[in-house]
Amino acid sequence: MSELRGVGIGLGVAQGPIARMAEPLPAPKDEASTRTLDEETTRVKDAVAAVARELEQRGAQAGGAARDVLEAQAMMAEDPSLEAEVASRLQAGKTGEFAVYDAFASFRDTLSAMGGYLGERAADLDDVAQRVIAHLRGVPAPGVPEPGHPFVLVAKDLAPADTALLDLDMVLALVTSEGGPTSHTAILAREKSIVAVVGVTEAAALADGQTVIVDAAKGVVTTDPSDDELAQAQNRADERKSAASAPITPGALSDGTAIPLLANLGKPEGAAQAVELGAEGVGLFRTEFLFLSSSQAPTVAQQREAYTKLLQAFPGQKVVVRALDAGADKPLAFLNDAHEENPALGLRGLRALRASEDILREQLTALAEADAATDADLWVMAPMVSTVEETEYFVSIAREYGVKTAGVMVEVPSSALLADHVLKIADFASIGTNDLTQYTLAADRLLGSVSSFQDPWHPAVLRLIHETGKAGQANGKPVGICGEAAADPLLAVVLVGLGATSLSMAPTALADVRATLLNHSLDDARRIAEAALTATDAASARAAAQQAAGI
Ligand code: PEP
Ligand code: MG
Repeated sequence: MSELRGVGIGLGVAQGPIARMAEPLPAPKDEASTRTLDEETTRVKDAVAAVARELEQRGAQAGGAARDVLEAQAMMAEDPSLEAEVASRLQAGKTGEFAVYDAFASFRDTLSAMGGYLGERAADLDDVAQRVIAHLRGVPAPGVPEPGHPFVLVAKDLAPADTALLDLDMVLALVTSEGGPTSHTAILAREKSIVAVVGVTEAAALADGQTVIVDAAKGVVTTDPSDDELAQAQNRADERKSAASAPITPGALSDGTAIPLLANLGKPEGAAQAVELGAEGVGLFRTEFLFLSSSQAPTVAQQREAYTKLLQAFPGQKVVVRALDAGADKPLAFLNDAHEENPALGLRGLRALRASEDILREQLTALAEADAATDADLWVMAPMVSTVEETEYFVSIAREYGVKTAGVMVEVPSSALLADHVLKIADFASIGTNDLTQYTLAADRLLGSVSSFQDPWHPAVLRLIHETGKAGQANGKPVGICGEAAADPLLAVVLVGLGATSLSMAPTALADVRATLLNHSLDDARRIAEAALTATDAASARAAAQQAAGI
């Protein structure tokens, strides 16, 4: 038995034999074309158009988030600046295949160098290039294998076009050697609830037919597992299945303590699925996701339309909207224009909004208008708040626009340590455990090489959450959790024991968390949290909590 590590997406576990994705097409040779420039240009144009239409068609067939991704890819294929790069290589006498390969590769390098969200789009561009080259060669584009039985798919990175139409009766799990938690493979795996571990650098060693356990909750792929390990994994998979089919009830502990379970959303279109899966409202609406590709600030009207759509989906329920969180992994061209050596420590979140206060004011105007036109209970919060003074600033500007419930995200250790002061001013706090972990452990959340540090189970992170929870209780203010940690069922129990009053997560995680909360009382949760708090590292905190919970 050996364990390969990566980043788990979701909480599932699956087992089965491996089938590897075909290797990419060999790179075309740099040789002179025997065709005329006109012939080559027409061939390439036809191939690009055919690939773009095929991507759109796959998108329409798949629907949901996949459609947006595939439409974006189709646009990439026909991007005029890429076309110009290809044309200049054709004019230099290269073959169509080489011109496409070389032009796309240069764009890919530029994207990769940007890192973060844009860096992870590089795989999408590679896929478009492969499809165009396959078309030019008259061969099928490399795709998902069809071994004729259910399998664990192992690939370098999956193209959105492949992930979108995966046959879920056949694909038991996904393992990729590249890609991070925000790659499209990860986003789509999350949306379709496919068990996935991405960024497994040693995945190249996995062979066709070999049996593995893919454990997304731990981010581990176990090769050649024992019978015992296979049986345990099967048990966990069965438990998840029964949680998924359990009745949808409001989030609560076994003693009846209500812990509302809310959804994290990035687009109003996600609301329907969240409602279907039993979300009792929205705990985090990431408004910046609406505008990641915009070069100009969105208008009040554009924003009002999106927020109204969101609020309409949750009549009478709480909807927490976060003001634009620009910077680092989510750069917005209209808010972050200066180059920074360390963008995660730079002018991001509320700092960036304050530097462009007109944009914040427009956002608050749009939110107030959407609120007036709908019946949801709108709460608004600021991202990346690091001082008490920033809290005062945000709460007072939000009040100018009639925001009744104005809060702050606790994502920086300074806010957690001063939460008693922060929560005298703010109406609520919402703990963003993704950034809080990044800043507490000084480990970039997107960097695979430091991923072992990015564990919200770390007792240093838990202590900061506890400080915030205690401050919430002392001031009678709600403290929600909206980072990925809330989606880990046992950690969710710990978070409640530390003082969290609501939990917000990707809607697909709701069933697991709901089922686990029902197994523990508030006293249990406090005892389990205490056990985790006294540990010295993340692994022992998790183990101590498991022991205290009797699992
Ligand atoms: C967080 O940091 O935990 C959070 C919820 O915000 P985001 O992931 O959007 O930075
Ligand atoms: Mg954050």
